[in-house]
Formats: sequence, C-alpha cells, structure tokens
Amino acid sequence: MPTGRRRCSAQVVNVNGFKLLLDCAEGTQDRIRQHHLKLQSLGTVLISHLHGDHFFGLAPLLSTMHLCGRTEPMTIVAPKGAKEVIETTFALTGNHVGYELNFIEMDFSEGLHRVFEGKRCTVDAFPILHSVPTYGFRITEVPRSSNSSPVLGEVPAGRRGSSPRVYTYCCDTAYSEDLVPFMRDSSLLCLECTFADDLADLARERQHLTAGQAARLATLAEPKQLMLTHISARYK
Ligand SMILES: [Zn+2]
Ligand SMILES: [Zn+2]
Repeated sequence: MPTGRRRCSAQVVNVNGFKLLLDCAEGTQDRIRQHHLKLQSLGTVLISHLHGDHFFGLAPLLSTMHLCGRTEPMTIVAPKGAKEVIETTFALTGNHVGYELNFIEMDFSEGLHRVFEGKRCTVDAFPILHSVPTYGFRITEVPRSSNSSPVLGEVPAGRRGSSPRVYTYCCDTAYSEDLVPFMRDSSLLCLECTFADDLADLARERQHLTAGQAARLATLAEPKQLMLTHISARYK
C-alpha cells in the first residue's frame, strides 16, 4: 500500500521515444505529471495483474486522457477481466472516452507469448506465480539499424557487436526457479522483493519474494543490472 514516502506500482518505460506504462496503481497520473512526462505521450499500457496496487489507477488515467482531448487509440495489454472492469466502470458511472481502447487480454498459463509488436519494441509475456493470474513482461528494443538493408557480414537484426536491450519486469510472484529462463539475457531485470528474509513464511503464504529470493533468482538469470521494487510498507 502507499506510504508517505513511496507509491504503488507504475513505471514509464521509454524505448527510444516510444513510451509504455507498466502497471497503473492509484495516483499514477499524479506521478506522471510530477515527473513532467506528457500524459498523451503514452502509447501502450501493460498491466501485470488486476490487484489494486497495479491496476486501480487505470480508469482515472484513461478518463483524464479523454478530458485532455486524446484522439489516438490506446492499446491495453492486461489479464482477462480488465476490459470488463474498465467498460463497466465507465458504463455505471456515466463516463466515457472519445478514443479507441484496444484491449489485448492475456489468458494463458504457460510459455512466452508475444503480446505487442511496435516499431520501437516488442513485448512478450509469461505467467508468474501469484494469487490471481499474473504475468511478467520482456520488453525488447527493436534496434534502429534493423531498418537499413543488411550488407554482407552484417548481422541483420541488432546493432553490430551488441544485442538489443531487454527489460524484464517480474512483479508479483512467489519463488520459482522455473521463471529463470524467461529472465535470461536481460539488460535490466526488475524483481519484486516485498519482504525481508526473516519473513520468508509470510512471503510464501502471500505469494511474494523476499529480498534474498530475488537476489537468488537474479544470480541464476544473470541480468546486467537488477532493480528491486514492491517493498512492503512495513519497511522505511
Ligand atoms: Zn499482487
Ligand atoms: Zn502488488
């Protein structure tokens, strides 16, 4: 839950100018303004699961975009049920949006699935372990050089000498080393660490990670960088 010092889950991922919103807790639109990001510049929303601390900010955000005159369609990738929640919320409260909402609902329990393909990036989703259907995301940069025609000796996709950057987001989940293959080759891996290790029993019960478990997954997945998030309000 939010504290005086921290907010719930929401991240803006900027892939060479194309901006994705990754989860949308309450207060997300305020934070977007505080960071001087343009609300209308968001092209796609990815929702990991429908718990309030990841989803309750979406209806107000979409509503504000309408009030600010948005005409561009918006793609929302979310677990099954999100479309019904948003459409019901707007219908029962007499609100509407004047632009197109394209829902891509995820309803699978294994494997890696391509859920978004854009000019700047692709997004693949994989199921993770939580009390409701929850998905992790791999956002892979489409290298700028892939537009140019390949010449002899050049690797067609990817910059010469380097592979595309991959950002993997995995929040909220219980511990499982089966998730490691989905996290491999990440430039940046974002894992949750709700609890400290002394609360491992509570972490198991609530289907979250401890900081030590997150570190263990990271040592197996070997990302270039690890970012930890989703820290319980009990910690300062
Ligand atoms: Zn959750
Ligand atoms: Zn959460």
